[in-house]
Amino acid sequence: MAGLDPENWSALRALGHQMLDDMFTQIEHRHQQPVWTPMPHKAREELRQSLPHDGCSLPEIYECFQELIVPYDNGNRHPRFMGWVHGAGTPIGMLAEMLAGGLNANCGGRDHAAIEVEREVLRWAREMVGLPVETGSGCLVTGSSMANFIAVITASRTYQPALRQQGVRHHALVGYAPESAHGCLPRAFDIAGLGSDALRKIPTDGAHRVNVAALREQIKRDRAAGLEPFMIAGTAGTVDCGAVDPLDHLADVAQEEQLWFHVDGAFGALACLSPHYAPLLKGIERADSVAFDFHKWAQVPYDAGCVLVRDGKRHAAAFAQSLDYLVREDRGLAGNAPWFCDFGPDLSRGFRALKVWMTLSHYGADRMGQVVDKSCAVARHLAQQIDRTDGVTLLAPVTLNIVCFTVDALSDDALSELVKDLHETGIAAPSTTRINGQLAIRAAIVNHRTETQDVDQMLDAVIALATKRLNAGVHEHKS
Ligand SMILES: *Cc1c(COP(=O)(O)O)cnc(C)c1O
Repeated sequence: MAGLDPENWSALRALGHQMLDDMFTQIEHRHQQPVWTPMPHKAREELRQSLPHDGCSLPEIYECFQELIVPYDNGNRHPRFMGWVHGAGTPIGMLAEMLAGGLNANCGGRDHAAIEVEREVLRWAREMVGLPVETGSGCLVTGSSMANFIAVITASRTYQPALRQQGVRHHALVGYAPESAHGCLPRAFDIAGLGSDALRKIPTDGAHRVNVAALREQIKRDRAAGLEPFMIAGTAGTVDCGAVDPLDHLADVAQEEQLWFHVDGAFGALACLSPHYAPLLKGIERADSVAFDFHKWAQVPYDAGCVLVRDGKRHAAAFAQSLDYLVREDRGLAGNAPWFCDFGPDLSRGFRALKVWMTLSHYGADRMGQVVDKSCAVARHLAQQIDRTDGVTLLAPVTLNIVCFTVDALSDDALSELVKDLHETGIAAPSTTRINGQLAIRAAIVNHRTETQDVDQMLDAVIALATKRLNAGVHEHKS
């Protein structure tokens, strides 16, 4: 049997060019379609086949892709997608994914150019947030969930290196994060074996920023109880409403208490590229580690998370192993240590760096800062519209790009149903969260394509759906 390359390269080439053209067209006109189209039962069924023993032709598979997959996408490329915190991608990023796929590089380590590209984008990332460009480290990962996990591992192994061999049973480690921290932080404590209770949740103030005095008190109480504090995590851009913790004050506490200072800047770290918003993040440059995503505000296609560590030696000390089958040589293909497998749990790793490198090289950091500014301006516009409109109320201050609001006359249940209705209309896709226990419609403006008229259309649709519900009498009044 021959290998898996085509017998007829020219037929493959023609179809490949067609695919590329079709996808450009698809992206160019995506905004003319509904934001979201639920996948019909029939299409789901058609995708279910038993393991294909005999292959079928590429044109047939491509037809299947066009019919069963393309129409039922996530919607996040559409300008009126404003749910959760999703990036929209760019055609440049798509091309980079194709080129990286062609190269099929394994970026776990060894001496090849893809490694140098990843090192380069990590230097850029450290420059962006103000961490030491040369002595710091980092790696590209799936997303901020993994990046935060790597930071927790690095912090705990810096506090006590013997954890690597002995596990956590001899210690009572505790860390600190605001109540508003993303759920991946308690989960990182959970999967690190520390237990999610070991992440102390610190109350926040009226602006959803961590209460620093309460943090100091909790550390004091924990030390008195014989616990071992090892890290403080702050958030630059909370997931529910986009608040930014007072990072400088958190850095002061970490310094005084000799604790690791971590910043989860999943989307917010990109605000470092906006001269207007960067001052809000002051203190991020004092972090021992930073987690953020290139796939959110930087618009790099999924997935592209990033962890940065101030002291590269500590980062490697938390993960590196020496194994006979992975010896680092002084020259040859097995040279070029340290390898990226020394900075996280993955050994085989794809060439994520190419799409980051091409995106930043093409648009430039300033243009990325302008995307941040534009998203925040669109969010401010929406907040103003809500303020001016009777019957809808803002539920949290708009610091960056996230707007949380409610329809006054609707109960939480009715509001939740309204958002599902809105998704099903295909007009817009915000998501929901809870602010001080109350359900909120949450519009996160992360998409470089979203304009003021898109948020206006979303708000109009919310009001129309609310009116319909109220007229139909399906609401319950709030108590
Ligand atoms: C999105 C987000 C995360 C999780 O990042 P993923 O890339 O989805 O893993 C963590 N923290 C914050 C603040 C986020 O917004």
